[in-house]
Amino acid sequence: MFKTLTRSMLTAMACGGAVAGGAIGLSLVFGAPSGIWPAIAGGTLAAALLGGLAATIIMRSTAAFHTRLESTHTAEAVAAAPRWLRPTARTLVGCLDRLGAREEAWRTRERDLEIRTRVAEAGREQAEAVLAVMNEAVLVVNPFNELVMANDAAGTLLGFDASNTQGQSLATLVNDSTLRRIISETLEGACTSTRQAELMLDATEHSDAVACEVMVGCIRDGKGRPSAAVAVLHDLTREREIAQMKSEFVSKASHELRTPLSSMRACVEMLVDGEADDTATREEFYSIIQSETERLSRLVDNMLNISRIEAGIIEIDRAAVDLRTIIEQAMRAIEPQARERGQTLHVEAAPVDLHVNGDHDMLQQVVVNLLSNAVKYTPEGGRISVIADSDNLARCVHVAVQDTGLGIPPDDVERIFEKFYRVENYKRVAKGTGLGLNLCRHIVETVHGGQIGLESTLGMGSRFWFTVPMGTVEAAKAAA
Ligand code: ADP
Repeated sequence: MFKTLTRSMLTAMACGGAVAGGAIGLSLVFGAPSGIWPAIAGGTLAAALLGGLAATIIMRSTAAFHTRLESTHTAEAVAAAPRWLRPTARTLVGCLDRLGAREEAWRTRERDLEIRTRVAEAGREQAEAVLAVMNEAVLVVNPFNELVMANDAAGTLLGFDASNTQGQSLATLVNDSTLRRIISETLEGACTSTRQAELMLDATEHSDAVACEVMVGCIRDGKGRPSAAVAVLHDLTREREIAQMKSEFVSKASHELRTPLSSMRACVEMLVDGEADDTATREEFYSIIQSETERLSRLVDNMLNISRIEAGIIEIDRAAVDLRTIIEQAMRAIEPQARERGQTLHVEAAPVDLHVNGDHDMLQQVVVNLLSNAVKYTPEGGRISVIADSDNLARCVHVAVQDTGLGIPPDDVERIFEKFYRVENYKRVAKGTGLGLNLCRHIVETVHGGQIGLESTLGMGSRFWFTVPMGTVEAAKAAA
């Protein structure tokens, strides 16, 4: 660029010389007295020729200097230039050198800045990618209380569109004044360590009111001044739910354990105090103690099995299991109780293959639990049926236990598979733990990947059903 500039300047100088020569000639022509025209014309012509010659020399010299300047080292170009052009050429070359050095410095700086920009952009993209996969809501705020970065979790929790908020004021995005205050105080340097607090965020368009824990830290620049505040919000809803579920479980389990224990203790106390002086009363007490012990051990077994399944540590003995055999065995087990209550038992198993890949004992426990409930909650003389069929389209075996019993009130249907849930009015009808159906659901859904459900009409009876995927029965058969 600077060489082009030099060429233009030198060319302009040469042309200037030529024009000056011409101008001298013309002034001589027009300025001379009329008697001496030939002489003046000759002089003018000579002056014009001399001016033109001088211009040509200057142009050639500068052009040659320029060509040399372009192709050789500048010092050599100066040395090769005509003597009269050298001082100007030297000055020009000096300017050129200085300009060239500055241009080089600018270029280096430009490159440096470009590299820094790219590194910063890559860093930002990485940070955004990390924030995007985080469950916790994260906000990064600059010292002007403007949002620099926020992930989707933050947008959902605080009710804004995280993809479109960069540079917006925190006051317009975040309603919660406590959160804004903590961030502002952090940016003002009021606190040096990470701040931690619990907040109750108001409900937004996208979420209900949420309890959350917030941690706000400060990022400082090289001089120790706050350059950004990072706020991480952890939603406490799930943890609170789990804590509540745990305490409910403990209180329900203690209640269920206390009932048989109290009854056993009362019997034992009366026996010890000698209040049961006749054999019949003593036998009655023994029988109560025996049945309460069995209830207690069923309760503990069910609790253990459910917690093992929930923790994923139950041992599953998978094999090709024939549900027809399981139904027959369960029917035989339940038959004495049904007979005692004058109930009739029926099996309607379709003449198809009812094999599934599953755990024999667990699936048998499901059928026995459902049959036992049917017997307990069906009045005397009722009818209990087990219906089994396979669904080749859905690749599963379908089993239903149907009774003509009390049925289940619509309000209780939703919650009937929950732990310890029992229909209040039926507590007088039969003893129970409220864990049997919950265990059935875990065995069917968690262990076997099937489904369990219920249809019931109050006063008309219930139909509990479950499905077990055929899965890879062939593989199970082969493994057996
Ligand atoms: P329980 O040991 O109390 O029977 P379950 O979990 O097996 O515990 O059943 C929970 C509750 O569901 C029972 O207490 C009863 O109120 C209701 N229930 C279960 N099966 C039937 C049924 N076939 N008919 C009517 N109510 C039933």
